[in-house]
Amino acid sequence: MNDLEKHIKRWSSCKLCNLHKTASKHALYDTEPEGASIVDILFVGEGPGRGEDMLGKPFVGASGKRLRDCIEKAITYLHADKKPVYGFTNLVACRPCDSKNGSNRVPTEVEVSQCCARLMQIIMILNPRLIIAVGNEAHFALRTRGVPHGRVTHPSYIVRHGHELDQSYIDSVFCEIKNVKSRLEVK
Ligand code: SF4
Repeated sequence: MNDLEKHIKRWSSCKLCNLHKTASKHALYDTEPEGASIVDILFVGEGPGRGEDMLGKPFVGASGKRLRDCIEKAITYLHADKKPVYGFTNLVACRPCDSKNGSNRVPTEVEVSQCCARLMQIIMILNPRLIIAVGNEAHFALRTRGVPHGRVTHPSYIVRHGHELDQSYIDSVFCEIKNVKSRLEVK
């Protein structure tokens, strides 16, 4: 069993914090393309929402899909010979809420701390050249823990504005990922 398989086995049944009680599935991580064992860029958000909870994957709900679309467009601006592999995870792997049918909420500092070993482990395994915090909560949590990272606004902000902010959001993602091109040593 490799490190990634061990990680999935250990954390997919984790009961360290109360969030497991209302979770349908632990949304540990995802990669594009699917099944990658290391990534060039890792996007770290706050926590899974309902769609992520059902599918057991981060960033697959409305906001996540918008982020994925914007990343794909931003990557085309790199004009790189090799498309970067990227991945997603969150500060917590189980949906932060107070009851099964309750609304999504921000994870507490205690929940973030309890899930931190998982987060650090997936960062170590996926070994990204670049980490990007998605939203303020992820930014503050990574900064507190001394993890170097870039940051973009949470895509729920652009979802609320229709498509009018898409281009500026794509530009902001590009601004964060452009340095990965030299790190990939691609032309
Ligand atoms: S949120 Fe993290 S620490 Fe809490 S139960 Fe889920 S995997 Fe475990």
